[in-house]
Amino acid sequence: MNSTRSEKPEDIIAGHIPRLRFYAKKVVLGGEKLSSQEDADRLARLKEFVSIGLAYRCTYKDLVTLLYAEVFQAKRGCDCYSCKKRRMLAFARNSSL
Ligand SMILES: [Zn+2]
Repeated sequence: MNSTRSEKPEDIIAGHIPRLRFYAKKVVLGGEKLSSQEDADRLARLKEFVSIGLAYRCTYKDLVTLLYAEVFQAKRGCDCYSCKKRRMLAFARNSSL
């Protein structure tokens, strides 16, 4: 048996993604600034997310797309039913990563 410590890389990443998206949305969609505390948290999570992702042979571009495609889609997207539904499904898929 392993382990006193159950944090697998996937779990670490799964924990970081929603938080990183939350920050991205706040800035990109909300036009708000992060506090220095939030920004420090964001950077620490982003570094860990990227280093784990790269260790799994993702490219940086893959990782950024994984993380932020949804945010930018939301920014650009129109408000019709099919677009909203698509965004919602993408969101659900991504959050259960
Ligand atoms: Zn549409």
